[in-house]
Amino acid sequence: MARIEDYASFVGQATIDELFLLARHLEGKSVQNVNSTAVGGGVAEILSRMIPLLKQLGVEARWDCIKGDEKFFATTKKFHNGLHGVAVDVGDDEYEHFLEVNRRNAGEMTFGDIVFVHDPQPVALIENRAEIGRRWLWRCHIDFSRPDPKIWKFLDQFVARYDAAVFSAPAFAQKLSVPQVLIAPSIDPLSDKNKELSEEAIASVFERFGIDRSRPIVTQISRFDYLKDPLGVIQAYKLAKQRLDMQLVLAGGGATDDPEGPAIMEQVKEQASKDADIFVLFLPPASDIEINALQRGSTVILQKSLKEGFGLTVAEALWKAKPTIAGAVGGIPLQIAHKYSGILTHSIEGTAQWIKQLISSPAYASKLGENGREHVRNNFLITRHIKDYLLLFISLFHEGDIVYL
Ligand code: UDP
Repeated sequence: MARIEDYASFVGQATIDELFLLARHLEGKSVQNVNSTAVGGGVAEILSRMIPLLKQLGVEARWDCIKGDEKFFATTKKFHNGLHGVAVDVGDDEYEHFLEVNRRNAGEMTFGDIVFVHDPQPVALIENRAEIGRRWLWRCHIDFSRPDPKIWKFLDQFVARYDAAVFSAPAFAQKLSVPQVLIAPSIDPLSDKNKELSEEAIASVFERFGIDRSRPIVTQISRFDYLKDPLGVIQAYKLAKQRLDMQLVLAGGGATDDPEGPAIMEQVKEQASKDADIFVLFLPPASDIEINALQRGSTVILQKSLKEGFGLTVAEALWKAKPTIAGAVGGIPLQIAHKYSGILTHSIEGTAQWIKQLISSPAYASKLGENGREHVRNNFLITRHIKDYLLLFISLFHEGDIVYL
């Protein structure tokens, strides 16, 4: 496990000292994080790195996952899609089951002094706040710019009971009756997913998957989810390939709270089946070194999302100084300034065009990558994220209004 002191090499000792100073203000207060999956997706990724670091700073931090059944996760996936603007129909019995599962979990839970609830799945744990007490924060990691009104109305009755709601990007801010705080997510430069790797380690991963490193490699790492547009990625690759030799890697796994993954993976496999230069890799949980190596060894990284929360995979690619082409959605424009720290696209054709351009202009591509890495260093490393959270936690115990960050 990384030591908090080791981060000084990226952000300076003063930043680390400041974190210790802030953490002292939380002495005697426990911080309980709650989400719905221990593996898969950006939330689990961040919590798995952040909790141990908070502990090293002296904060009594912990992480619990709510338990749900198939029907619960099918419903919350509908919520997820609906909040992202996809047409869905949620039945009354599904809303009721959602509440039942939340009530059951709340009944079994030992709450911390601060209950930090992530995303919609556990949002209704707060239903009995009057009895439970505590300070409550709701952390929304998803793109909330145009939520389905019915689903949002249902969720808002719970969100309104929190002390504050935290969003990843200004575009997601909502009309709320509680204070809103904007805090961007982050990546951990010392995790297996982002640490430096030797050339041999990178080569061995590509060898294992049978990918030829002497030819250009275009890669998208993502859960198999419609909103990550894996089929659009294949189409863009096919268009670009008419002009230029390249291979495509689509690598990802599932998340235990996402029941749609296997069906989408099947469609992707079918679309890819006749082309030996497309590698569809199913990554089991804990494939961090593989992901790191695939990103480092690729010529161009894609994240052609149609909707996106923050898009941690973009920060991961930029941190590796990789030229990155990504959909201009959700938190991605916070990370990529078009033609400066990467490329923002809006279509399959545009993506194909930029794939060709970046493969053919390595010096330009490499400049984009370098700028991207600096941008991530200054804005999206875990130390900045921890500082924002500590300030938010502290503000919960102060009289008067919450401190806006
Ligand atoms: N990820 C992973 N294995 C996979 C696919 C993705 O570990 O098979 C990681 C990825 O590297 C990133 C996170 O999961 O750290 C995905 O976060 P992002 O914000 O990009 O998307 P989300 O899945 O949360 O919508």
